[in-house]
Amino acid sequence: MKLQDLPKITGTLPATDKMPVWFVGHGSPMNALEDNAFTQSLRKMGAEVREKYQPKAILVVSAHWLTRGSFVNVLPKPETIHDFGGFPQALFEAQYPAPGAPDLARETAKLSSLIHETEEWGLDHGAWTILMHLFPKADIPVFQMSIDYYQPMEYHLQLAQELRALRERGVLVLGSGNIVHNLRMSMSRLQNNDTSPYDWAVEFDTWVHNQIDKRDFLSLAKYEQAGNAARLSVPTVDHYVPLLYTLGLASEKEEIRQTYEEVTFGGISMRSFQVG
Ligand code: ZN
Repeated sequence: MKLQDLPKITGTLPATDKMPVWFVGHGSPMNALEDNAFTQSLRKMGAEVREKYQPKAILVVSAHWLTRGSFVNVLPKPETIHDFGGFPQALFEAQYPAPGAPDLARETAKLSSLIHETEEWGLDHGAWTILMHLFPKADIPVFQMSIDYYQPMEYHLQLAQELRALRERGVLVLGSGNIVHNLRMSMSRLQNNDTSPYDWAVEFDTWVHNQIDKRDFLSLAKYEQAGNAARLSVPTVDHYVPLLYTLGLASEKEEIRQTYEEVTFGGISMRSFQVG
């Protein structure tokens, strides 16, 4: 190869080999079947990444897999889990037939002594209802990592930092939860046909957005400091924790781009963003 050919060749390579990281507010499982502003934003997000990168696998940290200890599933063919009730039959028939990524899952487990392998689980609705829009062809292997529900918030930020090497190995990490997630209060508003957002939901969602912009991720692990709005927005931490994985994987000063924002059903924030 001649030296003068170099710029031409490097010019055709992707701008970076480092995979972006996503956080998606998944909301209602019905989004799997719906064409709305949120699902359209997911399609755009997926298509843009596909243009620039070639992910070898997707690692989903979903609000819906809670365990004692942190686990990755090493299944070659993860099943589509319909972990909900009271929805139309069409949603129970939906399948996301992506292959698993046992090798990359095992590599992930080697990155931290805190992570164990398991053949349990598959793809829960925190993963597949949004992947159906992000990567509709289901041709990129997917594996999940569970949330250790017995650990403090700082644990998740730190564990995510130990996983940073995955980004250089073609793994796109996707945190799937909701920054504001108060189902009980959302239901009471829904029963009155009122879909306007609660003030505390907007307040906490905005506070989180600001802390992300300031790159103050540690304050997001200590979110209770945000007071009453935090208490109402995060009645249980399951949907909040995936955010900490996404941010823990960000490097300092890396671009973070908001891809969607909306507070639905009064108290569910659909805020989604991309790191890198
Ligand atoms: Zn959920």
